[in-house]
Amino acid sequence: MHFETIIIGAGAAGMMCAAHAGRSVLVLDHAKAPGEKIRISGGGRCNFTNMWAEPANYLSANPHFCKSALARYTQWDFIELVNRHGIAWHEKTLGQLFCDGSAKQIVAMLLAEMDRVGAQLWLNSSVAELRKTDGGYSLDVNRDGGHRTLTCRNLVLASGGKSIPKMGATGFAYDVARQFGLNVTETRPGLVPFTFSDARFKPLSGTALPVRLSNALASFDEAMLFTHRGLSGPAVLQLSSYWHAGEAIRVNLIPELDLFTALRDQRQTSGRRDLSTELARHLPARLVDFLAPELALKGRLADQSDTALQTLCDGLRDWHLTPSGSEGYRTAEVTLGGIDTDGLSSKTMQAKAVPGLFVIGEAVDVTGWLGGYNFQWAWSSAYAAGVAIAKG
Ligand code: FAD
Repeated sequence: MHFETIIIGAGAAGMMCAAHAGRSVLVLDHAKAPGEKIRISGGGRCNFTNMWAEPANYLSANPHFCKSALARYTQWDFIELVNRHGIAWHEKTLGQLFCDGSAKQIVAMLLAEMDRVGAQLWLNSSVAELRKTDGGYSLDVNRDGGHRTLTCRNLVLASGGKSIPKMGATGFAYDVARQFGLNVTETRPGLVPFTFSDARFKPLSGTALPVRLSNALASFDEAMLFTHRGLSGPAVLQLSSYWHAGEAIRVNLIPELDLFTALRDQRQTSGRRDLSTELARHLPARLVDFLAPELALKGRLADQSDTALQTLCDGLRDWHLTPSGSEGYRTAEVTLGGIDTDGLSSKTMQAKAVPGLFVIGEAVDVTGWLGGYNFQWAWSSAYAAGVAIAKG
């Protein structure tokens, strides 16, 4: 059986590519349903793009690589598609756009787009072997207990990264890329909670607050959540993509408040108030209790000198922590690193040295921030490849 184009992976990128790749397209996936990550994303509402998406929101060994695809299919193009399908949406925060209803609407939209161009979808299908032929590729595919050989002119790798193996993530695209001589950069989990082996934050589990979380490479002003095993929340997930094992992170617990002035003013008017009680007006009380020994919080406001207040504020503004590790691929939203962009055309996503081989989505060494940026990369890279394939 011959197809012009076979796309491996019916996720965000694979389905989007199929909708643009012209005639005779087959998408195959080993899962029993398409777009499973879309379905569970954004708490079931899919944060499908970000209004402020731009190349600076992406990590890659080559930060310029994503520019062309992102410019040629933007967040506004995807919003237009969503509108055309009558899907209601809203901005939650920081430009993050979510469905009002359900993430399943995005999956249904992509399936409808595939249908519109006559693309076929084979689920429960896995590739046993893949070979280059004179005019393209030959694939041995297992489907529903049967075995068949398929051929195609263009082969698109859209099988994602290693995140959440329970959902079928395999690293398959990396193996195929290596088979065809492409380089794969080091991969590691991204957008993932930090763990601390001593479970020191257990008493604070469930406490959340706005922080500025930073290291030498990046800084994020978002919420942080204490968990049984460590730290999570948007600020933590964001910074995790810029973190390497063994490094310290810095937490500013009072990013928006001039706490020193506030405490000094209160010392004038309410000097008899306990320092901890006063701090609990600005920070979660459980956190104040937790920090009391470390920051030597004791006595009344009136007992605190300016120097003591300043030292306290400095401590709250620059808390150094060294995570033991991260939750790993088990819960990571994305895989950092991947198929080296050096070997790909940024305009078409085609392998420079392997005609007819395309790589799109998370499998490529381009990773977005938290907040709809990763789906935007999937849409943009998929469109770039699809249009190039359709043009022949
Ligand atoms: P995937 O969506 O992972 O699709 C890959 C497909 O390939 C899958 O269907 C898989 O079954 C199939 N496959 C894998 N291996 C094989 C194989 N060997 N043979 C055949 N098929 C195979 N990003 C956002 O922008 N916004 C969000 O709200 C958001 N929420 C997320 C929530 C969670 C819990 C997770 C895990 C991720 C979230 N992401 C979010 C990230 C986003 O899901 C990914 O960046 C995006 O799905 C990548 O698209 P993709 O098509 O490249 O890969």
